[in-house]
This record gives sequence, structure tokens and C-alpha cells, in this order.
Amino acid sequence: MSQPHVEVYTKENCSYCEKAKDLLDSKGIEYEEYIVTGDEALFEEMVERAKGRKTAPEIFVDDELIGGYDDLSALEEAGELDAKLGLAETGDAAGAVAADGGDDVEHRRLVIAGSGIAGMTAAIYAGRANNDPLVIEGDEPGGQLTLTTDVENYPGFPEGISGPELINEMRAQAEKFGAEFENGIIETVDADDRPFRVELTNGDVYTADAIIAASGASARTLGVPGEDDLMGYGLSTCATCDGAFFRDEDMLVVGGGDAAMEEAHFLTKFADTVYLAHRREEFRAEDYWIDRIEKKVEDGDVEIMRNTELAEIHGSQADGVDHVTLLRHPDGHPKDKFDDPEFDGEVEVFDHDVGAVFYAIGHTPNTDYLEGTGVEMDDAGYLGVAGGFEGGQTATDVEGIFGAGDVVDFHYQQAITAGGMGSKAAMDADEWLENEADLTATGEAETAAGQADD
Ligand SMILES: Cc1cc2nc3c(=O)[nH]c(=O)nc-3n(C[C@H](O)[C@H](O)[C@H](O)COP(=O)(O)OP(=O)(O)OC[C@H]3O[C@@H](n4cnc5c(N)ncnc54)[C@H](O)[C@@H]3O)c2cc1C
Repeated sequence: MSQPHVEVYTKENCSYCEKAKDLLDSKGIEYEEYIVTGDEALFEEMVERAKGRKTAPEIFVDDELIGGYDDLSALEEAGELDAKLGLAETGDAAGAVAADGGDDVEHRRLVIAGSGIAGMTAAIYAGRANNDPLVIEGDEPGGQLTLTTDVENYPGFPEGISGPELINEMRAQAEKFGAEFENGIIETVDADDRPFRVELTNGDVYTADAIIAASGASARTLGVPGEDDLMGYGLSTCATCDGAFFRDEDMLVVGGGDAAMEEAHFLTKFADTVYLAHRREEFRAEDYWIDRIEKKVEDGDVEIMRNTELAEIHGSQADGVDHVTLLRHPDGHPKDKFDDPEFDGEVEVFDHDVGAVFYAIGHTPNTDYLEGTGVEMDDAGYLGVAGGFEGGQTATDVEGIFGAGDVVDFHYQQAITAGGMGSKAAMDADEWLENEADLTATGEAETAAGQADD
């Protein structure tokens, strides 16, 4: 089959653009890249061809709009991308090979779910320990840190380092020690038999002696009216990715933790005014961030809306976000009060003009693929691990499955803590793999001794 004409509109410092290009590169696909940064005409061309979407990347195959990185990776997940790119006959045909491809099951000593800081660090340690790690990258190769421009608190970089650069260096380090990477998403883990059976959404299947779950957490959304229609058309969960597209607009950031503060602070580079809506009076963010935001408030760049919640986003895909409807009550949590028929007070409902909305309201752990394995999770889905003072701190209650990073730790959720836990998980897995071998040997020895006694 001949390769179709592939075009990718990108912008500078855009992690999703890099991910889209990486995915195409991994398939050996040639494409034309148009960088829209600083080129108004090219930007307008992209928006027109992308039917009003103002976010990069935008990918076209033979003039057909594929969409952004999420759309590209959704095609990959569905097993349809290769056919679209002229690499396979049809998606069905490709799927059929995988479906009856029992012979294609590959055995690995260690599979690592996730290529964020935790997975990368685990891969470095596991590679050095000769555990031959296979890293399944997931739908966000490189993890959350690829969404941020400046990381100033990762030790060893006094001038700071960009998130994507830090991740790229870690990946190179892991590859140097023999780690392999596969672009795919784990759909299920079967822990009933050993080795574990690991199935990917693209149909690939592995068996593994041990698994490190380092699958992090995904940005949360609110489910308010307008959200589905306007995501990618003025509504975003990543200020660093999309902020520059809404230069000189008023912008709304929703949230009250570190991420909301950081995103609001970052957006002051582009926004006319950044409005920060938080449903409570007090912020949950560190004092460091609150101080920085208060300075921005003094400078007139940020306006804080306390006890205020987003109720609806208005706009269209053609023209983007136009305004939002907000709820306010001095005692906080206005939406609960508004929705409560028993509530006898008055909730203020008002419209507010903004050109873009950014969610910064936390994350949901990516643990669906572990359901049914017996691994303990809390109500939110975060993994439970052994903890304690000795080795085995990252062990889940299913022997041979370990947890590391934000998928376990909803409290610290930092690059350095995720990395630290990744190293512990690799060492725990190494010890467990060694001990399993010892146990088998001991078991055999005991059996042999028992037989000799008989
Ligand atoms: C905007 C932003 C800025 C930040 N800035 C900083 C900072 O300055 N300093 C700092 O210390 N921290 C920062 N953080 C936090 C830091 O990025 C996280 O704590 C860290 O990335 C967590 O690493 P992780 O590996 O546990 O998870 P993640 O980074 O979330 O990575 C999870 C990985 O798992 C993969 N995955 C998910 N599901 C599956 C599946 N089913 N199968 C296979 N793989 C899967 C994903 O594709 C991804 O690769 C920031 C976070 C954000 C969002």
C-alpha cells in the first residue's frame, strides 16, 4: 500500500505535538510539519481546516481531519491507525491477526505500566538489574511531566529543566540499560495464573513474571454543560499546552490546589486577566504558590473568585468559548446548595465573559486495567501498597504486582516522589523475582529431600 499524504500542524513547546510526531515516527511515517507559532496566517489556516479547533497538533491524512494527539492515539488504540496510514489492509484485518494471534504472545520478566517519571525510573533500575523491562507507554507517553514547561524543584537542575527534556533524558538513560518501550495501553491484567497475562487495547498480548503499575493519574473534568462540545475549542486541561492560543483573552482557571495556582500563574503570560474560581474560601495549595498568586493579584493580572463554581460553558466550536455561568455562595460549595431542594438560602448565579477555560481540579488514578486482579484500591481507585520500614514497601497485595508514583500516592504527587517510588518498585520487583526463583528452588529441594526421606 502507498503511504498517504500526512500533514501535522504543530506549535513550539507543545508536548502533544511531540507525542503525535513520536507516534508517527514510531511507524516510520513521513509527514509535513507546519509550525504555527508566530505565523498568524498559518494558524488561521489550521483553525479553518480543523473546523474551528484552536489547539495543536492538528493532523490530516490525505486531507481528512484526524484531529489532535488524543484522536490519533484513539485510532491506534482501536487498531485502525495502521490502515489509515497505509500500513495494513484494514483495521478489521489488523485486528483479526491480533485476535487469533495466540502464537504471538511474548513473555517478559518485567512489564512496567506507564512511561511517566515513576515508570522511567523503575525502567532505569530494572534495566541495570538485568530484569529486561518492557515499558508500555500508555496514552500519555512521558506522563504528566510532558505537560509542563519548567520544572524547578527536581534536584540537580539549579536553573530548572523542561518537563519533556527531563523525561527524554530519563528515557535515554533507561534505553541505555536495555529497557524497551511499546506504544500501547494495557487493557487488562489477568492475575489468576502465573505468569500474568497482560492484554493491550491494540490486541498485543504479553505474559509477565512481575508487573510494576506506574500508570499515574488523569486530569479530572466537571461534567458541566458545554464541556463535551468545547473541549479542545477553548476548554483545556493543560494550560501549558494551550494557553498561548488565547493570547490577550480573559481566561478562567478552575481549581484551588498547586496545579490551579501554577496554571493561573503561567497563563498571566498570555491572558488579559486570569480569573481563578475556587469553590471554597481557603486554597489547598502550598504557601509558595499562594504567595506567587497574591503577587499577581496585586499586579492586577489575576482576580480570585472564592466560593465560586463553574456551572456551564457557553460558546461554539466555530468561535470557541464565549462566556461561562458561575455560581457563588459565601459559605462555599455553591453547586451543592444550588442543587439541594432543601437548601433555603440564595445562590448567586451570574455570567462572566472569558475566551478560554482551564480545568485544574485534580486527577483520577489510571487503574481500570487492574480491576479483578485482587489488587487493593481505595474508593477513588488509588493502589494500596505495603509501605512500612523494610523492603517490599511497593508490593500490592497480589504477589508480583508492585505500585509506584501518582497511581499510589495522591498526597505528594511530585516528580521526585514518583521517581523515588519507581526506584523502590524496581528494587522490590528485583528482590521478588530473585526470591521466587529461590522459592521454586527451595520447593524443589524440599520435594527432593522429602522424596529421599520416603
Ligand atoms: C501541569 C503539571 C505541572 C507539574 N509540574 C511539576 C513540577 O514542577 N515538579 C514536580 O515535581 N511535579 C510536577 N507535576 C507533577 C508530576 O508531573 C507528577 O507527580 C508525575 O508526573 C507523576 O509521575 P507518574 O509516573 O507517577 O505518573 P504520570 O506522569 O501520570 O505517568 C503515568 C503514565 O502511565 C501511563 N498509563 C496510564 N494508563 C495506562 C495503561 N492502562 N497502560 C499503560 N500505561 C498507562 C500514561 O500514559 C503515563 O505514561 C506537574 C504535573 C502537571 C500536570
